[in-house]
Amino acid sequence: MGRVPRNRPGLETYDEDSLGFGRIFTEHMLTMRYRDGAWQKAEIKPLENIVLHPAALIFHYSQQVFEGLKAFVGQNPDDILLFRPDKNIARFNRSCQRMCIPTIDPELFMEQMSALVRLDRDWIPQSPGTSLYIRPTVIATDPFVGVKTGSEYLFYIILSPVGAYYPEGFAPVKIMVTDKYVRACRGGVGEAKTGCNYAASLLAAEEAHAEGFTQVLWLNAVDKASIEEVGTSNIFFRINDRIITPPLSGTILPGVTRESVLQLACDLGYECREENITIDQVIQAAQDGSLKEVFGSGTAAVISPVSSLRYRGKDYTIADGKTGEAAHKLFERLTAMQTGREPDPYGWVVNIGK
Ligand SMILES: *Cc1c(COP(=O)(O)O)cnc(C)c1O
Repeated sequence: MGRVPRNRPGLETYDEDSLGFGRIFTEHMLTMRYRDGAWQKAEIKPLENIVLHPAALIFHYSQQVFEGLKAFVGQNPDDILLFRPDKNIARFNRSCQRMCIPTIDPELFMEQMSALVRLDRDWIPQSPGTSLYIRPTVIATDPFVGVKTGSEYLFYIILSPVGAYYPEGFAPVKIMVTDKYVRACRGGVGEAKTGCNYAASLLAAEEAHAEGFTQVLWLNAVDKASIEEVGTSNIFFRINDRIITPPLSGTILPGVTRESVLQLACDLGYECREENITIDQVIQAAQDGSLKEVFGSGTAAVISPVSSLRYRGKDYTIADGKTGEAAHKLFERLTAMQTGREPDPYGWVVNIGK
């Protein structure tokens, strides 16, 4: 349908229907440095490479935090809508505290992020299922070999016009349950949005991909029984009319989409609970027919229905491999709120346009 960037003669344009995810970046970036015990003035400038000393702490000891949220053009073309950005900013600062990185004033964060998105507003795609993905990141930059907390940091924000996260789009994905690898354990950094959690997950994901699976479902590191989350998403199970997601125990990423789904599922008339659920309970429910659907939730994919689970060499098909009713309704409701097509009774949607 459309092309981004809009109305910008002389710039390369991209077909909105084939954006993929995270491959294309906008013209500008925001940077802000921390030194001498304080965050310095933020700067918006053309997107450029970052030059760092090869000893920079980030390269050796992974002191890093990131966030991910989306901007949409609203019903009025002047509207730029963000979904619960305060949640992302608060989580960013919580992750920073866990990773010994200085926090950023939430108001300043919001102001600077909004200014950057407004500047590159022509890059926000408008076809259904597309958005402008916002990636705030902070890294320790001290040139020093030796484990220590950084004293210099670089905070930056980059923007990427995106389509669907998975090549399957909103089509159901196949998930591999692993009891060989673990993602996080209590007392670790599982609830912080830091790159090292992903580094730790790559081997399991590679092995799952090699066998035709899109993602890995993680189990509790200690008992290998209770369910935690999927690669980049939180997870929900519908057993008859009850929707269950594991509680935030310190090892699970507290998803903004997860929290929103818990509310919206109640509004849609489902009984909704944060409750411990084991893989054995899920398999049992799959076998007796009470497992109606399974879906992941996250900013990137919004809602991703799961068509089958493999556990200990056996495959369990869910909802005949089709998208379930709750996943479908929740996807519709969330995306309609995010794009301003339906009213937002909660004040979640923030308009930074004009
Ligand atoms: C970001 C993330 C999620 C989803 O969080 P949202 O705020 O809904 O995008 C879930 N799990 C992990 C591991 C994540 O990094």
